[in-house]
Formats: sequence, C-alpha cells, structure tokens
Amino acid sequence: MGRLRKRLCGCITKKDVYPMEPENQRRTAAQPLNLVLKPVQRAVQDGEAVSLAQQVSYDQFRRAISYMRVSVTDKCNLRCVYCMPEEGLPWIKNADILTYDEIERLVRAFAPWGLQKVRITGGEPLVRPHTAELVARLKVVPGIRDISLSTNGVLLADQAEALAKAGLNRVNISLDTLRPDRFKEIARRDGLDKVMAGIDAAIAWNFQPIKINVVAMRGFNDDELLDLARLSIEREVHIRFIEVMPVEENLELEKEAHISADEILYRLLELGEFQPVPGPAGNGPARYFQLPGAKGTVGVISPMSHNYCDKCNRVRLTANGGLRLCLFGDNEIDLRTPLRTGASLADLGDIFKAALKIKPERHYLGIGKTASTMRAFSQVGG
Ligand code: SAM
Ligand code: SF4
Repeated sequence: MGRLRKRLCGCITKKDVYPMEPENQRRTAAQPLNLVLKPVQRAVQDGEAVSLAQQVSYDQFRRAISYMRVSVTDKCNLRCVYCMPEEGLPWIKNADILTYDEIERLVRAFAPWGLQKVRITGGEPLVRPHTAELVARLKVVPGIRDISLSTNGVLLADQAEALAKAGLNRVNISLDTLRPDRFKEIARRDGLDKVMAGIDAAIAWNFQPIKINVVAMRGFNDDELLDLARLSIEREVHIRFIEVMPVEENLELEKEAHISADEILYRLLELGEFQPVPGPAGNGPARYFQLPGAKGTVGVISPMSHNYCDKCNRVRLTANGGLRLCLFGDNEIDLRTPLRTGASLADLGDIFKAALKIKPERHYLGIGKTASTMRAFSQVGG
C-alpha cells in the first residue's frame, strides 16, 4: 500500500497515494553521548537530599527521556486475541508487584532527572484497587506535570469521578469494535456496553484529550474502520488506529491480520478528504487527520511500517519493578531489589541515568517476527 503525500492544499485524497519507499527510518549513527549533568540545587524530600531543579536527561542517541509508562498490574479482565491467551498468562506473584509507595518513590527519584509525564497502564490498571490514590500521589511529585491512564474502559465509568478528582489529566481507552458479538470474539469476554459507558464518563469528567485506541486487524475489525472513525465526528475524541505488533503469543495472528497504517488511511478516504492536523496534547507517535466538520481527530500509529524510534522519549516500569528501556528488546533493569534493600532516592536516580545509556536505538520487529521474549504487552505495560 502506498504512502500518503500531502497536497499543496494540505488535504489528503486518493490521488495522493503513491508506492511506499523502502523503509528508511534509521537515524544516522549518533555519537554516543555521555550524560553530562550540571550540579543541581538540592532539597530535602522524605529526609533525603534530592535535586530540586529538573534536568533533561538524554540517552546515548540524544533523545530526551521525559516519559514513563508505569504498569501497576499484569492482570486483566479481558483476553484480547492480539494480547494474551484465553487462559491468561503466568501472573506475577503478588509479593513481587511494586506497592504504590515503591512506585511513588521511583517517580520521585526520576523526576529530578527529567521525568515529567507518567502513564498508568497494565494489564488493566483499573482492576488494581485504588488506582485513583496512586494518581493523587504521583500528581504532587515535583516536576511531574502530566498523569495519564491507558484502560480497556470496562471499569472506567465506576472510577472516572475518583480519577478526575485525583487529578488524572488524560485517558486512552481501547475499543476495537462497536459490535457486542464481535467484542466478545476479540476480547473473549463481554463488556462493550461498559466500555461505551466508560467513554461517556471520560467525556463527562472532561479528561483532555480522550484517545480511543483501535488495534486494526484484517479479518477481525477492518470492516469497521469507517464506523470507528466516525466516532470522532460527534464526540471530541481522537480515534487512533494501531498496527498490530508481534509478540510471542500472537505471531500467526499478527502475520495474517496486519494492516499497514497507509492502507488504513487509504480506506478512510471513503469518508471524504481529510486534513492533516497537529493532533491533541500529549501526541506521541501518531499522525493525525480531521474529517470534515469533526470535533475530534483520526490518527494512525505505525510501529511496523514506519517506525518512529528516533523520537522515542519513554521508558517503561513493569509491575514487578523492571525498568524496560524499549517495549521490544529484552534489556531490563531490576529496580525492585534496590528499592527493597534501602537504596536512597539519589541511588535510584543514578540507576535511571545509567539505564538511559543502554536504551537501544530502535526495535527490530518484522511482520510475523518479534524481537523480544515478551509474551504479551500486558507483561511490560503496553
Ligand atoms: N488494558 C489496557 C488497554 O487495553 O488499554 C492497557 C494495557 S494494553 C497492553 C495498552 C494498549 O496496547 C492497548 O491500546 C492495546 O490495544 C495495545 N496492544 C496490546 N497488544 C497489542 C499488540 N500486540 N499490538 C498492538 N497493540 C497492542
Ligand atoms: Fe487486557 Fe489491554 Fe491486553 Fe486487552 S490489550 S487483554 S484489555 S491488557
């Protein structure tokens, strides 16, 4: 499928599709960058000296790292076909799951070194009790200016008020279909009505922005791309179609179901010409467009066909305390042991800075080929 070129008027039409160039997303080799950090002001936090002014920390490829996805559980109340097997996975032992105290301590340790944004994810984060309490605790960490949540939406209507009052800024909700029977096939559990109620609650509580993530899959939901995109017309929501990514559990499915972001855009053109737009706040790797007269936007995320690793600004914290430097690729640093053996905030900050030096340049996924021993996103915080 071709790649979309912008016309002078800025809008995209079917005529603008031309054959895709070979992927050439690799950055030119960057000089390894040793982190040179200026001395910073000190303050006392929980009886310990910590940096007060926030530094920017770069990885070895000169990417500023300011964002951490925090998985609070690997468990989930759904079993999406692209994510995990129907019987679930070998779950992490409860004793190994980081407590909210421990998560807060890590965020406090990393904030002086450039961490500004935290996304709470899982597994399904809302199955862990008191998620709103964690939001409230992270919200007041000096330097943290944005807390977001990724959820499948099933429990959102019940918790939206508490989350809003705790200071949650934004929310991403997964929604792969608008048909109840199909929801049951894809998620292997019922729940579409609850997810839709969750979306309504997110709008009512004014989370900004609200992003709806659709994993686009040929043969599963590709006949609904237009209907899902239309949700952005009446509601101020941002519908993002994501290419399905290969993990140990879904290699066959991924091979058969893969649809490129360019094909998705091409098919959306049936809705009429649409304008490229900058996208909502906190926009990450998506490319955004707006349908005529729409309140929201439509976006595509193309980790497979056009990787965006050169703009990666994030690390991940697994539910059992592994600092994961790339979603794919298995280098992970154990933070639970230092946390539980008395490491100071300064020690933890040093581990964070050292870890950035080994963040890989890019992922090496291919269609039907993963680059990680990870069985499912739920294990590392998708
Ligand atoms: N349970 C929450 C949810 O579903 O939104 C949060 C965790 S989930 C792992 C985070 C995101 O990863 C969801 O939008 C989900 O659709 C996406 N995801 C999971 N496995 C994926 C895969 N193999 N390829 C692409 N996206 C995937
Ligand atoms: Fe659960 Fe989210 Fe994975 Fe679906 S994608 S099984 S909702 S963790």
